[in-house]
Amino acid sequence: MPKRALITGIAGQDGTYLTEMLLAKGYEVFGVLGPCPGAFADRMGQYEGRLHLIEADLTDMASVLAAVETSAPAEVYNFAAQSSVGQSWSDALTTTDINAVGVLRLLEAIRAAAPHARVFQASSAEMFGNAEESPQCETTPIRPESPYAIAKAYAFHLVAAYRKSYGLHASNGVMFNHESPLRSLDFVTRKITDGVARIKLGLMSELRLGNLDSRRDWGFAGDYVDAIWLMLQQDGPDDYVVASGEVHTVREFCEVAFSHVGLDYREHVVVDPAFFRPLDVNIQQGDASKARRVLGWSPKVGFSELVAMMVDADMERLG
Ligand code: NDP
Repeated sequence: MPKRALITGIAGQDGTYLTEMLLAKGYEVFGVLGPCPGAFADRMGQYEGRLHLIEADLTDMASVLAAVETSAPAEVYNFAAQSSVGQSWSDALTTTDINAVGVLRLLEAIRAAAPHARVFQASSAEMFGNAEESPQCETTPIRPESPYAIAKAYAFHLVAAYRKSYGLHASNGVMFNHESPLRSLDFVTRKITDGVARIKLGLMSELRLGNLDSRRDWGFAGDYVDAIWLMLQQDGPDDYVVASGEVHTVREFCEVAFSHVGLDYREHVVVDPAFFRPLDVNIQQGDASKARRVLGWSPKVGFSELVAMMVDADMERLG
């Protein structure tokens, strides 16, 4: 019998990459679409007849329980979230209900209906806030500084508590930023690559961005789902940082993206204070040596290759 996996947030960036991988491995995949499936849900059309789609809302206990009961999963991957830090400032209540209490609902449903399932929780390096140590690893103090990060920190601790108290095989992947052509346009990387393609194609002339000096550790989402899957194949559950270990500024991202199509970012990028966050986390750099050592994981796609991949995809889409 094929192994059954339940993926929440299946139509999002990570959900789509993981679906591709699990189907290729012969899993029977059950995917949760959110309560108001947006444009992302169309992506699932390519898998028609190859997976089971369930509608459930992480803010609604009955639907979460039904999703777990229907799928009877051996593995659960929780990607569902309001995943934008910026948006968490304008809608902190909803962010908390999905990203924090939603994880409590899911763990309770798993405890009731699939206690032997292995569970992955998408934790975030945003939990480290403006960390005093760099790079950040599994022992770095958690000091979240946004509603998004605070909700993710709650879920992180909850997973650890359920693991300890109820013996759940539940692991946290503390992930640094990971991008791809499937990244939502709300995120700066995709906003840049979409802007580069529009400017190159003559569809717009300037790109307005916030803090160009923000530094991030960016990796490729396709590589990160490899680490995620490996976590659930281990005998015991644990927490792992997943990161590229390399740091680049938003300015460097712009430089590489614009020069990929023969443009100079300085002629097109306008810094607009409206896009600055109320409180920004300026430096993030991950140390994934535990994931490398225990899981045997390492990222394959480097920074320039990732930026070029995203620009090319947007050029193709818009061209
Ligand atoms: P996306 O925003 O692409 O996907 C999130 C998915 O969550 C969406 O497809 C959405 O479904 C679903 N969702 C939203 N609200 C609900 C709800 N109330 N009930 C059920 N589903 C809901 O995120 P990513 O794929 O980029 O990220 C995956 C996970 O990893 C997220 O939890 C994110 O916070 C976390 N993470 C991501 C990082 C990154 O750099 N990408 C870094 C660290 C952590 P629908 O489309 O149907 O509305």
